[in-house]
Amino acid sequence: MFYRDRYIWKSDILDIPEVAHGFSTRRGGVSTLPHTTSMNVGFFRGDEEETVLENIRLFCTYAGLPDEVVCTPQIHSDRIRYVTRENAGEGTVKDVPFPCDGFVTDQPGITLLVRVADCAPVLLAGKTESGAPLVGAVHAGWRGTAAGIGTKAVAMLRNMGAVKICAAVGACIHACCYQVGEEMRDKVKGLRGTDFAGRYVQERDGGLYADIAGMNRELLLEAGAVQVDVCGACTQCAPELYHSHRATGGIRGTMGAAVGIVPAL
Ligand SMILES: [Zn+2]
Repeated sequence: MFYRDRYIWKSDILDIPEVAHGFSTRRGGVSTLPHTTSMNVGFFRGDEEETVLENIRLFCTYAGLPDEVVCTPQIHSDRIRYVTRENAGEGTVKDVPFPCDGFVTDQPGITLLVRVADCAPVLLAGKTESGAPLVGAVHAGWRGTAAGIGTKAVAMLRNMGAVKICAAVGACIHACCYQVGEEMRDKVKGLRGTDFAGRYVQERDGGLYADIAGMNRELLLEAGAVQVDVCGACTQCAPELYHSHRATGGIRGTMGAAVGIVPAL
């Protein structure tokens, strides 16, 4: 179940020893522009770089996450990178060499940060047979979702030895608001089949509406996650609490979802 912890959302299925995580909202940051107030973790959104870095630092503090962070420009792909503490700082400056849409690690001391504003953020955590934690974070818009980025994240964690993987899908745009075109439905059909597209892209009032949270839940469970928690909040329904690309026509800040393994004391 998702619950609010001060300025952020958390999922109780990821509340496991040695793992910290959180999903940011618009609250608790230091941005002061009307569209980025107050928690914006995205560069190129109008805030000074130092402001964004301070927001990321604050978000990590609220979530109890390591302040060594890796993030990246995202490209709506299914590309996921394995990272270690050596990757700390990548993506927290503007010239980043390795675009991707997710990270996994088995190393403590590094926070995996993905960024969203209507797309679905998915955080994952599992343990090996011997009890060592493994974590992952992915950015899943409809393209990445349909391409199977969640499936891939689960597979990577399983290949690293995870035996019991839980995943949480944070606040994103839901089917109440997410109107899409025929082209999107056709692409989902092509990648995932007619039945899948029929379950998650439905006609209503003469339009098509997509449920990307539902798509991710099904694909994560199918890939072998033992439990998937979905946040019911819709970003476009509550633009005062969430950065929503659609609610603002793109003039907006960016939210973060982050997970990491906390170093033993
Ligand atoms: Zn909505």
